[in-house]
Amino acid sequence: MSILRIALPIPKRQLFDYLALDVIPKVGCRVRVSFGPRKLIGVVWEVGEDSTWEVSKLKAIQEVIDDKPIFDATQRKLCSWLAQYYKHPIGDVVQSAMPVALRKGESSLPKAIEYWTVSETGKTVELSSLSRAPKQQALLSALQTEDILKSKAKEQFGAAATKALFDKEFITVIAKQSTNETNWRQNLIVQDKPVANVEQALAISSIEAKLAEFACFLLDGITGSGKTEVYLQAIEPVLKQGKQVLILVPEIGLTPQTVNRFKYRFGIDVGVLHSGLTNNERLQVWQKSAKGQLGIIIGTRSAIFTPMLAPGLLIVDEEHDASYKQQDGLRYHARDLAVVRAHAEKIPLVLGTATPALETLNNALTGKYLYLKLHERAGNASVATQHVFDIRQQPLKFGIAQGMLDRIKLHLEQGSQVMLFINRRGYAPALVCHQCGFVEQCLRCDKPFTLHNQLYKLQCHHCGNAKGIPKSCQQCQSTELTAMGVGTEQLEQGLSQYFPEYSNIRIDSDSARGKSKLDRMLSSINNNEHQILIGTQILSKGHHFPNVTLVLILDVDGALFSADYRAAENLAQLITQLAGRAGRAEKPGEMWLQTHDPGHPLLQDLINNGYAHFAKYALLERQHANLPPFTYQALFKAQALSAQDAHMFLQNVSQLFSHAAGVSCIGPIPALMEKRQGQYRMQLLLQSSQRSSLQRALGHYINQVETLFLANKVRWSLDIDPQDFS
Ligand code: ADP
Ligand code: ZN
Ligand code: ZN
Repeated sequence: MSILRIALPIPKRQLFDYLALDVIPKVGCRVRVSFGPRKLIGVVWEVGEDSTWEVSKLKAIQEVIDDKPIFDATQRKLCSWLAQYYKHPIGDVVQSAMPVALRKGESSLPKAIEYWTVSETGKTVELSSLSRAPKQQALLSALQTEDILKSKAKEQFGAAATKALFDKEFITVIAKQSTNETNWRQNLIVQDKPVANVEQALAISSIEAKLAEFACFLLDGITGSGKTEVYLQAIEPVLKQGKQVLILVPEIGLTPQTVNRFKYRFGIDVGVLHSGLTNNERLQVWQKSAKGQLGIIIGTRSAIFTPMLAPGLLIVDEEHDASYKQQDGLRYHARDLAVVRAHAEKIPLVLGTATPALETLNNALTGKYLYLKLHERAGNASVATQHVFDIRQQPLKFGIAQGMLDRIKLHLEQGSQVMLFINRRGYAPALVCHQCGFVEQCLRCDKPFTLHNQLYKLQCHHCGNAKGIPKSCQQCQSTELTAMGVGTEQLEQGLSQYFPEYSNIRIDSDSARGKSKLDRMLSSINNNEHQILIGTQILSKGHHFPNVTLVLILDVDGALFSADYRAAENLAQLITQLAGRAGRAEKPGEMWLQTHDPGHPLLQDLINNGYAHFAKYALLERQHANLPPFTYQALFKAQALSAQDAHMFLQNVSQLFSHAAGVSCIGPIPALMEKRQGQYRMQLLLQSSQRSSLQRALGHYINQVETLFLANKVRWSLDIDPQDFS
């Protein structure tokens, strides 16, 4: 009797036993089963001879969906590791690892991809007749040159314009079977490339020497030192052997610029995976890669699950980037999963960055990873000089000191671009009554509303709650309400009034909604259409702006006093990455940081000695304080309408773990963000000097946590190796 053990999308840490129909499906194939009143799609994870349940009571599956497994042995190993390490239900892990189309039971066989095309009616339309609908006009005009992928059209021209043209019957859908029979291996070329410098050459040959085995490299190269060039030259022999390369990039680092560098060098198609794709497009990249029909696959976090027929090399670019850690559901770290995957595939992994995460750095310093360094900027570029600017007792104009305005002017007059970083979008972080001091707050989060003048709204940046801008104070009815502090919108407005002769562009998640909008903004910067670039985090991510010579960081003082022990590391990475945007080509660059605390040891160390020095001492501090990477952590988070419930639940969890050997419990304490969306949030931190002790304890008690009295009353989650304590 064969028993199928099936991974079902049910939040339980177990497989579910079913009987086979006449043929026994292969492990890794999808099946349809009934589960209570529901029909579910699951994946056969094991086939065994016995069951812990009474066999006569087991149900048979209803249907086998796949002839061939959609998960190969390595994929299954990865999923099992994820479930085990993150203590996450296996069925849910398997779901996360599958493209959405497959979760829904669609065929795993190659499927046609849908494009928009001009209809017969559309061909007779005069473009000028659409002059009052510029987006529709632009879309129709673009379609006259070539058919456009559905997702791309939606992103570039908007859903409304697409729908309008479709309703007018000017455009129709055409499905094209992808021509995936062409073999990229025959089209492979190698374009002219720069001669690697000594350090690059050493890095390239070190990677090449390990191509047939597992090895993990940290490629630690300052910004602009030519890390991408190292990737390109390391990839070359892999592709020439006919093997595939998977490259992970941060969420907002995936630009056409990046993809084109790889495409151009090797003259082959690159599979791109990002959140803007339709389910079908995503499935297609997945299928092609699984069949070995793509040489290079580039994607964000979840691309780490992409199957490859002939894997040859893994690369994680900007490995320190926070977007590699998923912050909800299956809270995995894609960089760590990449290590596990490279090991399972017996291939090398390259982790590249200018600002290694302390965990990664420690692994390199202790010899667990092979340490490759690039100390100098490639080509003719020199490193930007770094300075702090004391703003104590200085009058500020829209957040900027006069000395800094003069410096901006200097750079603009030399024909360069300047970049200003501020970590707050909107017009101002608070609206305050000038009479009585009352601050408009989000009652669900107990935090001030951000003022958005352009949207004419107050918006809570913690829960999205929004309302109109009041005309008078709730408390004293005064109409003198004033904006406090500075956000990107105000900065943009102030600078365009102060420097009317220069064009500025604001890049934050309000203005750059959608990937293609960001792409367009980035290329307009590279075309020198704007001289003043204003933005948030988005601007710090690996973009290459050759004409930027001044980077000004406006307000990071808050992070200097954060209660989160990772704040210093993240701030140092941010500052270093931002400084790295300056002077990337011939013109030398400089970075200035405005602060009320110019003598702060972190700033002084960073500016005078650089990230590497800072990181070494930060590691020592972590060691003395018994913090990661010298200890291992797991964080239970709980939230409820009553703070009492959340606290009690974690108190009970803490009691369970008090029996665990070698594990200490810290808390329950309120989260950094104590209240959000009306829910009170508490945390319990588990810590151990041994990863294995922590893992053992979690494995032992997690099911008991689930049966705790309050477990159904509070919303709780477990975060292994937590990065974010907010
Ligand atoms: P990183 O990825 O470290 O930021 P890049 O690989 O983007 O650096 O390189 C920065 C710039 O230097 C690019 O314009 C690149 O073409 C150029 N470059 C890289 N390596 C060399 C080299 N060996 N000789 C000349 N130019 C180089
Ligand atoms: Zn008032
Ligand atoms: Zn809120």
